[in-house]
Amino acid sequence: MRYKMIDMIRSLEYDELIRIKKDLNEGGIHLKRLVKERIKDEQKKHNKRCCVCGEIINVYSTNNFTLLFDYSDIKKKASFCALDCLNYFLKELELRRKKDMIKEVKYNEKKNR
Ligand SMILES: [Zn+2]
Repeated sequence: MRYKMIDMIRSLEYDELIRIKKDLNEGGIHLKRLVKERIKDEQKKHNKRCCVCGEIINVYSTNNFTLLFDYSDIKKKASFCALDCLNYFLKELELRRKKDMIKEVKYNEKKNR
């Protein structure tokens, strides 16, 4: 079951609310650490399906892989059911990068004429 922030705050006892308010007044160091730890835990989890073949990821298998991409502040995940799918993904990524680089070079050549 998923809880929204408002539901979480409403469920807290008075003493806990006072402790959180005090922490926030002091820069929210404790709260920031808790949120940071939860984000790290979420990032360690595999996605539900392989992003290449769509197979459901078996969380107990040791053949699963998950890549974490860093887009400025936002991190994105891609999970793979096996090494074959990971390799296919990396090759496609490399091809796409090369195509983008060629496009950029052509665009700059056109601009500089
Ligand atoms: Zn797969």
